[in-house]
Amino acid sequence: MHTLNNLDLALVHHDMTDRSGRIITTSVTPIDIHDIARNCKTFGVRKFYVAHPSKKMRDLVRSIMGHWESTDAKKYNPNRTEALAVAEVLPTLQDALGDATLSRGKKPKILGTSARDGKERITFSQARELIHTKENFILLLGTGHGISTNLANQADYFIEPIKGASEYNHLSVRSACAILLDRLSQ
Ligand code: SAM
Repeated sequence: MHTLNNLDLALVHHDMTDRSGRIITTSVTPIDIHDIARNCKTFGVRKFYVAHPSKKMRDLVRSIMGHWESTDAKKYNPNRTEALAVAEVLPTLQDALGDATLSRGKKPKILGTSARDGKERITFSQARELIHTKENFILLLGTGHGISTNLANQADYFIEPIKGASEYNHLSVRSACAILLDRLSQ
């Protein structure tokens, strides 16, 4: 098992699609913040960026993070405080890329994810080979009905979808994230 310390992760809420394919901005789902932060901490992902264009939504994320920074919360559940310390909230994916570039000294390559098949998907095995080199990457997770074509076109690579054992194909983003990180760290 490899630690994913050359990987960052971005959970993006703008430039998403709805069920009819229209471009939308989704709301933050608070449990995604907790669970994805834990996933990142578990697999050694350096930073979990939450991108949302609305200040109100960013403040909501900050209040979740801030709660777990308080002395009482730290005493009550230090594991949660530790996990949320990897989270950072910013307006856009570009801001996350900028921050990661400053911290790493090199612009990360974007690894897109989707529940759907599409052209030019790389396999998990190819994604692992990439990640286990010295390059740095950012794993792009969508919300709503997934990443728009415009955003998808910004990805350097797109990983094949996780396939379940039935026709049902509606994993939550936090569950998909745990499976993706587990597979990428093998
Ligand atoms: N139909 C959407 C799609 O094609 O991506 C599902 C959106 S899902 C609610 C939100 C995000 O979870 C996706 O943008 C992707 O990042 C991730 N996700 C969900 N299911 C996935 C799967 N089977 N394989 C890979 N990623 C998945």
